[in-house]
Amino acid sequence: MRPLLARISLDALAHNLRVARRHAGSARLWAVVKANGYGHGLARVVRALGQADGFALLTLDEAANLRQMGVEQPILLLEGFFDAGEIAPCYELRLSPVLHRVEQLAMLERARRDGPLDIYLKFNSGMNRLGFPLADLSELVDRARLLAGGGRLTLMTHFATADEALGVDWQLEPFLAQARASGLPLSLANSAALLRRPDSLGDWARPGIMLYGASPFADVSAASLGLRPAMTLVSEIIAVQDLAPGAGVGYGLAWRAPQRTRVGVVACGYADGYPRHAPNGTPVLVDGQRCGLVGRVSMDMLAVDLSGLSAAGVGSAVTLWGEGLPVEDVATAAGTISYELLCALAPRVPVAEI
Ligand SMILES: *Cc1c(COP(=O)(O)O)cnc(C)c1O
Repeated sequence: MRPLLARISLDALAHNLRVARRHAGSARLWAVVKANGYGHGLARVVRALGQADGFALLTLDEAANLRQMGVEQPILLLEGFFDAGEIAPCYELRLSPVLHRVEQLAMLERARRDGPLDIYLKFNSGMNRLGFPLADLSELVDRARLLAGGGRLTLMTHFATADEALGVDWQLEPFLAQARASGLPLSLANSAALLRRPDSLGDWARPGIMLYGASPFADVSAASLGLRPAMTLVSEIIAVQDLAPGAGVGYGLAWRAPQRTRVGVVACGYADGYPRHAPNGTPVLVDGQRCGLVGRVSMDMLAVDLSGLSAAGVGSAVTLWGEGLPVEDVATAAGTISYELLCALAPRVPVAEI
């Protein structure tokens, strides 16, 4: 069998939720499980995070899956319904849609449904992606109250720079200035704000990446935040080549050996979700030791420099990221973020729950 495997630790997921809980104080937690649970498998993640107060995701299909699994907690549709046909299922499946544009309000008004619907009204406090203008808040609250039909109304915004030096104040202050007077529950914090700004929690925080054991910050490790990686992508060396000085490896011979070099070929490529744009030197663990990627990543394979690892050979254990090699380190080397690597895990990679 091909040795590539994603080990997913249900314990680590549950542990990371407890870390989030400690930071959240009395705020409740939406566990964000969009994008197939950040690549970890939706059903698996929801099982492991059973203690969450609710689950936040993107599509009606995902929500219906959770209800079919017997999930009883509230489910937040992060972008709400995309067309009027999705309104009836919101009632039937007891989903909480985010409303972020006037067309959604109009669709809901036209649908004229009876009964309660928990509604999230999303405001644009500066990210300029989704949300109503803050200036319209009180008028929209009146309109949405009628539509909620006795269901709960919550006000929401999303931070653009919670993980960066710019922080959240520039969004938090104007949002609170408008939202506080309504007396309605608030939902603001992603992982970065949850970890760094307890004053931004509101009533419902929305942690995502931290639950999977990765740090949202470029300059703070997940381990120092007490988080444990949920996904460890492991494989093995399936071939070794002795390169003479000047010999290249892989397509385009994009890396050439400066001196005589042993190169290990690892069963993992871009079709498995490993980033093709990872440059020479991107860290890879072989037999528990860090070495560097060399040459271009192929569809099914990549190569590593085994200099200094004289005992390594065919069958040596390789970790692409996870336990022992933070996914953030690989992401940084490859010029991307942990989120993208985790989400990109390919369906062809077998998963072992541990
Ligand atoms: C994805 C998402 C989150 C979670 O963000 P993390 O950085 O993964 O914690 C929170 N809120 C919204 C609206 C999101 O889309």
